[in-house]
Amino acid sequence: MKQIKRFKRVLVANRGEIAIRIFRACSELGIRTVAIYSEEDNTSLFRTKADESYQLGKGKSPVDAYLGIDEIIEIARAKGVDAIHPGYGFLSENPDFAQACEDAGIEFIGPTAEMMNQLGDKIQSKLVAEEVGVPTIPGVEAAIRSEDEAVEFADKCGYPVILKAAAGGGGRGMRVVRDKADIINEYRTAKSEAAKAFGNDDIFIEKYLENPKHIEVQILGDKEGNIVHLFERDCSIQRRHQKVVEFTPALCLTEEQRAAICEDALKIARHVNYRSAGTVEFLLDKHGNHYFIEMNPRIQVEHTVTELVTGIDIVQAQIKIAQGYTLDSDEIGIRGQSDVNVRGAAIQCRITTEDPANGFAPDTGTIELYRSASGFGIRLDGGNGFTGSVVTPYYDSLLVKITASALTFEDTRRKAIRALKETQIKGVKTNIGFLLNVLNHPDFIAGRCDTGFIAANPELLD
Ligand code: ADP
Repeated sequence: MKQIKRFKRVLVANRGEIAIRIFRACSELGIRTVAIYSEEDNTSLFRTKADESYQLGKGKSPVDAYLGIDEIIEIARAKGVDAIHPGYGFLSENPDFAQACEDAGIEFIGPTAEMMNQLGDKIQSKLVAEEVGVPTIPGVEAAIRSEDEAVEFADKCGYPVILKAAAGGGGRGMRVVRDKADIINEYRTAKSEAAKAFGNDDIFIEKYLENPKHIEVQILGDKEGNIVHLFERDCSIQRRHQKVVEFTPALCLTEEQRAAICEDALKIARHVNYRSAGTVEFLLDKHGNHYFIEMNPRIQVEHTVTELVTGIDIVQAQIKIAQGYTLDSDEIGIRGQSDVNVRGAAIQCRITTEDPANGFAPDTGTIELYRSASGFGIRLDGGNGFTGSVVTPYYDSLLVKITASALTFEDTRRKAIRALKETQIKGVKTNIGFLLNVLNHPDFIAGRCDTGFIAANPELLD
């Protein structure tokens, strides 16, 4: 029997819906929860959902408050915290944070700093994929150092190409270049934007695939090297490279394609002995070929769809793995790949406080009326959705995630539509009408949408 370290207190170094999601998992496991919050989040719901909460980041910007590694570790130490869950965004993919936790004797609920170094950077992780024989999109092997290198690559492989920030995330730090006349300028802009947004101006370049599908595979690994996949999600419905609606199973895949993609995801995860939850992302071209694009070493916004079809609580699994339980232990109960089974379908819609009629500009203000959906087959993961809550401009505009599940994709779609219609929000603008247009579109019904779907259908914004 391996050493098990039972957690008594877990701190969540995050905010909003994902903080609440993690507090719930901890509470169910009998673990006391600790929140940290910025001054701007003083009235946010998530801090009251924790057993204890502490303000931090005085004098810092609203986002920087959640990025202060030393301050977070200090609070964790002072409050007797055993482990820290980073959620997504903020410090979740920062190897220095994972290392700082380890150095302080606090368990980081996620992969090790070394695994993050190997996989968190998009150039590095492509090299890992190539090493294990998983197809990648043709591109350069290292960060490009000059405009000339960008021009040379594009001339060789042909336009369009895409410039990407090695440290980019959340759909940011990418520029598509269709014409030779633009490449030098785009390269310079990409570099300065990356330096500002990610503190790292490494840029690489690869072939741009026209309207692929985005298919990703959920991975779970323990500290003993046991790794399983939890099948795929189709996240092709994107606006400006950011996911809007995600679902599983991916209707476009044959059983052979599904097996091949999941096996390739496992190859990459096994190569680094991956532990905790992670996602291996692929693009699928028109011919059904898949190419690895990156691995996200953290929990993702869309993990809910996978939980609903597999019945596996991914956040609880992360916590148990961090405590030292193996996948096949009685606590986790996944004795092998054949224990992971999919039943039915699930669709997640991200309700945001954005105005589709105004270029999806974030809206702010007081929510005057909030009535949520409920009922059979509907799961809600929210942050600040309640009457009287104030939507501020400081953080992302995700208000609540509605995840519907049923035995067939069509029944799931109908449930999601019913739930979106049931949701009433007054006082701030939301994208609910837009989401309904997406779910009612014939391409969505047929599971045909690719990453160009929203741009190609401007009527969705009406
Ligand atoms: P992020 O880390 O910001 O989420 P990703 O590398 O995962 O960035 O890419 C996000 C999205 O950008 C993809 O789902 C896809 O729509 C688009 N994309 C990225 N690389 C390419 C490419 N080479 N060709 C076409 N689309 C791409």
